[in-house]
Amino acid sequence: MRDIINGFLRFQQDVFPARKALFKTLATGQTPKALFISCSDSRMVPELVTQREPGELFVIRNAGNIVPSFGPEPGGVSATVEYAVAQLKVTDIVICGHSDCGAMTAIATCACLDHMPAVKHWLHYADAARMINESKNHANEKDRINGMVRENVIAQLNNIRTHPSVALALAQGGLTLHGWVYDIESGSIDALDAATNKFVSLAQHPTSKL
Ligand SMILES: [Zn+2]
Repeated sequence: MRDIINGFLRFQQDVFPARKALFKTLATGQTPKALFISCSDSRMVPELVTQREPGELFVIRNAGNIVPSFGPEPGGVSATVEYAVAQLKVTDIVICGHSDCGAMTAIATCACLDHMPAVKHWLHYADAARMINESKNHANEKDRINGMVRENVIAQLNNIRTHPSVALALAQGGLTLHGWVYDIESGSIDALDAATNKFVSLAQHPTSKL
């Protein structure tokens, strides 16, 4: 904890004064253009891998980068998606999974989660992805986990389309969805390509979108 507090002290002393103008502008409003939904994993830092400044990304992070389908009792993720789309009018939503994801590994390896009932319940929002991934042949466990990470991004893209605010924005042509998977070891990103419904290198296909 001491490291975290020391980090804040450095921020206050060195970083903040150097960027005072930016923070003054941000003090009275935000106009992020994108909603970025990723895992809570400490190794996947949206602002770092996309090189965004404060004020540029509206972010949701949770275990497994999951977006529950819209339902009669919307929770925190649904409210945050709605605020981003209906109020902030973001033009793009990125759902970004990542390699070595603990949540997706637990699903893909059928790990017992009885000691973590909340996690067990939460990961049911990835059931569609689990069913599809289990129906496929995988060369080994690593392949099965990588497949789960990718199927989960696709499933959560399907889930987010059930949100009224998202459905409306998509129908009006004011919103674009993106499905990404970040590889921790190589720093590369694969993006879901609408034309082929396959993941392709974002570096080689920078305009990939759905
Ligand atoms: Zn994860």
